[in-house]
Amino acid sequence: MKKNIKFRFNPEKLIYERIEHSFGHRFKSFFNTLLLALFLSIVLFFCYYYFFDSPKEERLRQENATMALQYELLNEQVKDIQAVMNDLQDRDDNLYRVVFQADPIPYAVRKGEIGGVNRYERLQGMSNADIMIETSKNIDHLAREVYLQSKSYDKIVDLAINHETKLKHIPAIQPVLNKDLTRVASGYGRRIDPIYHRLKMHEGMDFTAPIGTEVFVTGNGVVTFAGWQQGYGNIVKVDHGFGYETRYAHLSRYKVKVGQKVSRGDVIAFVGNTGKSTGPHLHYEVRYKGEAQNPHNYYFLDLSPEEYDLMVQLSNNAGQVLD
Ligand SMILES: [Zn+2]
Repeated sequence: MKKNIKFRFNPEKLIYERIEHSFGHRFKSFFNTLLLALFLSIVLFFCYYYFFDSPKEERLRQENATMALQYELLNEQVKDIQAVMNDLQDRDDNLYRVVFQADPIPYAVRKGEIGGVNRYERLQGMSNADIMIETSKNIDHLAREVYLQSKSYDKIVDLAINHETKLKHIPAIQPVLNKDLTRVASGYGRRIDPIYHRLKMHEGMDFTAPIGTEVFVTGNGVVTFAGWQQGYGNIVKVDHGFGYETRYAHLSRYKVKVGQKVSRGDVIAFVGNTGKSTGPHLHYEVRYKGEAQNPHNYYFLDLSPEEYDLMVQLSNNAGQVLD
């Protein structure tokens, strides 16, 4: 190793003099150099640390990027499933529930906010927090909607089972056979009273037919009245459940008792001319929750479209009622 020898020019003696350093001075110099080297190393290390990744960091960074991408994919998939869910909900509200006359589930119930504390707090501040929170929220909402939808289907199944029973009970045929009809004398609505000759609400439909013509009960039910009533003459009333009642008036006679169960199509009575009546006919009423309905909406089982049109036309003529 080459020895580090330094000289200094002496202008008085005009010679170069060798500079002798003490051990302390040399040690200090060495130590300073060492400190400088250390300082530079540290600076370099931090520069490297900040501007370049270690292999481990590089791997983590890549994993993080993959994970963010994976979250985005998941989120897209959740959105696709949500679209299918929306379609199911739409069909539930606008088809199944309409068929079974049930109210749709309110939007606020289906899409309601999931309450409580901030469920996603633990995710905040993490890298990719936004996409993680969004995905978690979407999945939570979807889970809730799936639960509600499955409950709704349970309800629809109940309604469907009940609906079959209901369909058997709702009045759905004419109370007198078509071939026995002379004509439908008058329908439901404001008509001229046959006795007082004033406009009066006619709460049923009059079927003109010979005395003794068979009268059929129009839906399954229970007889709640069979006897004489002022104005109606001999009358049979049948409770069909689900809010429906039918009345058969001006009968010549009846063959059912109060409390008797009847099935659609059973002969319960015979056409007559009793009570406030101006000719042999059946006065037929359909009531829903106590309110008189237009019976021509309740013959959907046994009339062809042409027969139905004819019946509506006949019953809508403002001719005299037989009451
Ligand atoms: Zn009438």
